[in-house]
Amino acid sequence: SIEAFYRDSWVEVDLSSIEYNINQLKQRLRPDTKIFAVVKANAYGHGDEQVAECALRAGAKGLAVSLLDEALKLRDAGIEAPILVMGWIRPGDAHVAAERDISVTVFQADWVKNARLSPSAKPLKIHMKWDTGMGRIGIRTTDEMDELLSMIHKNKLMELEAVFTHFATADEEDYAYYEEQQKRFDHLFSHFKRVWSRNVEIHTGNSAASMRFPDHMKHFVRFGISMYGLYPSGVVKKERPIDLKPAFSLQSRLIHVKKVPANESISYGATYQTESEEWIGTVPLGYADGWIRKLQGMEVLVGGKRHPIVGRICMDQFMVRLDQEYPVGTMVTLIGKQEHQSISMDEVADYLETINYEIPCMISYRVPRMFV
Ligand code: PLP
Repeated sequence: SIEAFYRDSWVEVDLSSIEYNINQLKQRLRPDTKIFAVVKANAYGHGDEQVAECALRAGAKGLAVSLLDEALKLRDAGIEAPILVMGWIRPGDAHVAAERDISVTVFQADWVKNARLSPSAKPLKIHMKWDTGMGRIGIRTTDEMDELLSMIHKNKLMELEAVFTHFATADEEDYAYYEEQQKRFDHLFSHFKRVWSRNVEIHTGNSAASMRFPDHMKHFVRFGISMYGLYPSGVVKKERPIDLKPAFSLQSRLIHVKKVPANESISYGATYQTESEEWIGTVPLGYADGWIRKLQGMEVLVGGKRHPIVGRICMDQFMVRLDQEYPVGTMVTLIGKQEHQSISMDEVADYLETINYEIPCMISYRVPRMFV
């Protein structure tokens, strides 16, 4: 609870929205397609352990993260569900993943050769990554696949659990590149079937692909941004393949309110001058919390109305021009709803000329996450 902290700025994470979003996707997917909840980067800034537990309760069958450290944190929290590390781990750390039953992403023959594994532990579970057009990680040719598969085949301490790929444009208007990636995947897979007799799972889709093309999805999907209630792009938001509820809001309180005469300056650099007598409020949140200086001029909600941030944003505080006097302690909503007004993650992202993914990730560890 907020009483556990000594500051008046916090992120509120509505876990019932996460559950709702998972259920929305479940209804769209074929009944045999499982959902893996993507909880990398502290669950896109929402709080990884709480989101992971909520997602699993809501029916997700596994979790996906980017780093081995992120997977270990979830195991340390007592989570026993399947966890996939989607990024590269050091071959020297392979034994750590095996000991904790964490699946890892592999795409280099040298990695298999250098992997440090102990014969006494359970085999390391491997997901082979295929680069079908993202150009980031993964094997690209059937020759690379053959080499990697023969190395894995010879290694008794490894077990191929799945093959997967990642789409670069599944959230765009034009399907052509998405279809090209599908085609390359199918080509690699037809070769794979000829040379590998054992069963593996297949996963390809992120939020955009799983919501827009549910019938293309294989054994499971990796559901990230939209689990948090955000559409992956403006195109998908307009299409609205499923209804989503945002889980994240950012709140603070006025800690100081004063009447300032005309022609007075506010904040560092004295970049803002009051035009007339103005009510100025101080909000205890700043760039060290991730509310970066470029957000000067952005609006916040106070008393159910929009008010502009004036003057430069400081490390721990910023000022807002108020339409009237408000008592110290009045709620300030930076992202979220107040009465009939709301400021969405997309609005903040648009203001910063970036994507919504970046906004919750940038709200720093200093801002406590409260779960409702
Ligand atoms: N799969 C991989 C490999 C990813 O890197 C990501 C995140 O970027 C996801 C799935 C989830 O994507 P999204 O958040 O768009 O659902």
